[in-house]
Amino acid sequence: MSTASAYLSVRGIDIDVIYKDIKNLHIGVYPPLGRVRVAAPHRLDDDTVRLAVVQRLSWIKRQREQLQAADRQSEREMVTGESHYVWGIRHRLKVIERPGRAHFEVDGDRLLLYTPEGVEAEKRRDLLDKWHREQLRERLPDLIEHRAQELDVDVARWSIRRMKTKWGSCNRETGHVWFNVQLATKHPECLEYIAVHEMAHLLERGHGDRFTKLRDIHLPDWRLRRDQLKDAPLAHEEWSI
Ligand SMILES: [Zn+2]
Repeated sequence: MSTASAYLSVRGIDIDVIYKDIKNLHIGVYPPLGRVRVAAPHRLDDDTVRLAVVQRLSWIKRQREQLQAADRQSEREMVTGESHYVWGIRHRLKVIERPGRAHFEVDGDRLLLYTPEGVEAEKRRDLLDKWHREQLRERLPDLIEHRAQELDVDVARWSIRRMKTKWGSCNRETGHVWFNVQLATKHPECLEYIAVHEMAHLLERGHGDRFTKLRDIHLPDWRLRRDQLKDAPLAHEEWSI
């Protein structure tokens, strides 16, 4: 995976720009979530690239919508045998139908779903979403407190939400930080990476030198963690028994 030489944000869409020895500008929208990468000739500057992206914005948005729709279709059935990641470790789902309150439990390399009979896949996915939020809520308070102190920032509020294309985001004016609920499926180091990234944004808007310096100081192996997050499977594969 090549590393971008610049990062742009165009109308809320994050774009990786790679300057190369090429004649024309190429725009690519990549699965699974519609990441946008631009390969640009060296002679163009960031503003020219930004303009080219703006001109092709409706095409980019169309591609992203299609990819995201395809991603939704590959949603989990929530049946026994499926693989689900919990904190970066693959677990095999076992559904146990019995009366009572539906809930999840981890048992070794198994993720157990206790549920009354007749609960549909969509409801089961909602339950998993809720459980992921609980997992994150267990880890985040300590992590945020510790990192906020270190970075000397005020996180006024944090919340967990579903996001299709971002792992985290923040509002610099209000000090509100958001975490993608799917982070509960990734290694805890990824959660820490996103927390430090977003909290560093409270000090520095862009991804320039000052931002890099902050990350180098507070999370020296941030590049490894970023790659870990990028390469992590999105948990849509089947578990072979
Ligand atoms: Zn950022």
